[in-house]
Amino acid sequence: MPLKLTNREKELLQVVAESADELKVNAYAVGGFVRDKILKRDSKDIDIVCVGSGIELAKTVAHKISNDKTLNGARKPFVSYFKNFGTAQIKLEDLDLEFVGARKESYRRDSRKPIVEDGTLENDQDRRDFTINALAVHLSKNEFTEIIDSFNGLEDLKNGIIRTPLDPAITFDDDPLRMLRAIRFASQLGFKIEEKTYHAIEPLAPRLKIISQERVIDELNKIILSKKPSVGFKLLFDTKLLHQFFPEMVRLQGVSVQDNYGHKDNFYHTLKVLDNLSEHTDDLYLRWAAILHDIAKPNTQRLEEGHGWTFHGHEVVGAKMVPKIFNRLKLPLDDRMKFVQKLVMLHLRPISLTKENITDSAIRRILFDAGDDLESLLMLCEADITSKNEEKVKRYKANLKLVKQKIKEVEERDHIRNWQPPIDGEIIMKTFHIKPCKEVGKIKNAIKDAILDGEIKNDHDEAYTLMLKLGKEMGLRNVEL
Ligand code: ATP
Ligand code: MG
Repeated sequence: MPLKLTNREKELLQVVAESADELKVNAYAVGGFVRDKILKRDSKDIDIVCVGSGIELAKTVAHKISNDKTLNGARKPFVSYFKNFGTAQIKLEDLDLEFVGARKESYRRDSRKPIVEDGTLENDQDRRDFTINALAVHLSKNEFTEIIDSFNGLEDLKNGIIRTPLDPAITFDDDPLRMLRAIRFASQLGFKIEEKTYHAIEPLAPRLKIISQERVIDELNKIILSKKPSVGFKLLFDTKLLHQFFPEMVRLQGVSVQDNYGHKDNFYHTLKVLDNLSEHTDDLYLRWAAILHDIAKPNTQRLEEGHGWTFHGHEVVGAKMVPKIFNRLKLPLDDRMKFVQKLVMLHLRPISLTKENITDSAIRRILFDAGDDLESLLMLCEADITSKNEEKVKRYKANLKLVKQKIKEVEERDHIRNWQPPIDGEIIMKTFHIKPCKEVGKIKNAIKDAILDGEIKNDHDEAYTLMLKLGKEMGLRNVEL
């Protein structure tokens, strides 16, 4: 299996080969880079192992690149050396070169940080997580064809198999992050985890607690961004790795049956929504909204007589859970979290519109509340239609189409999307000579509602008159009169 290298990659690897030759050391392209090149996937970093000092090799390579305009591109390479780790990185505009000296590792039980010694290429291959990540290509002048494959990684790559090179129980016990990586590669590449490797995970799942949450979320987000994220989530659930860091999602699993009433399994429903949505968007946080849209269903579940299972208010409770979950999982607490929270809060609205008469005022409200995130909300709602009953799916989809049409008409006419009511808090406080207080919010909202409901026109004078009337009812005194 030849590597399909671009001209740019060839050119850079030639510089590494020349440098290694000068230093009289052996250097190899290894790991993810070799794997991705065989799979014809894009690769933004090139992993290089040097039997000798990775830092010396990186210095020589950096020097050559800096002195050569065609290699260099428009920007000088950015080089970092990590003496403690014996690693170095050359950041180019389009690619990163990662250097490390070949090493031998031994592990202690309480940490995923191994004791590291210099080693041979063989030692270095032994410490790799999976056979498909343990391929090496010798970098000798002009020749990048000889693939060193100590563990039959090429065969596994061809057959789509994730397998540890050594005993999986030891490999995972040494560094439990590898269990997540196994599932991440299975989800990302559409590979199967070999049986022995797979069965080693569950007994070691509790070992994940020695891994930092930053590393866990990094892998989880890669799973979420894979083509069919349900593959990864099902594996996480079945191996009980999910239980270690995301118990809220685990709780979605299962069906309560009582008095002949059942409901759908919210875990598998959520995964279906996530897969549906993932066909239309690569936006990580929109995908997170799908994961969390029903997260409060277990908390709000009630059996209502003559009616069946209900989950009233799960969107409100769910929206409240979002910041806590984001905080614990070490996801960002900025606008991205707010976006997810908003979508969880609003996820029932477009669908509930289809059940009644779709009034203009309801449409104006959804436009106002969703604002710029309306398209994302509609995508989530569409993905949320997952009934087994084909007729039902058809009906819901047709209704949602109607809602979309209506939204378009109302927006074209009323321009509600980024609209602000004509009377703001400042005017209210000035008119009644009051400081910020509950009354200000009440009046502001009542004016907004009256306009959205079509009770008054969207203009300053009508809003002003309503403000005076509401103030009077509340016993506020208009200082301007
Ligand atoms: P990606 O770049 O898509 O995240 P990758 O496999 O290239 O995947 P990197 O973190 O770039 O992952 O690591 C490069 C290589 O280093 C891997 O291919 C693997 O050989 C090795 N490696 C990375 N993490 C581990 C680990 N936890 N245990 C053992 N080997 C690892
Ligand atoms: Mg990589």
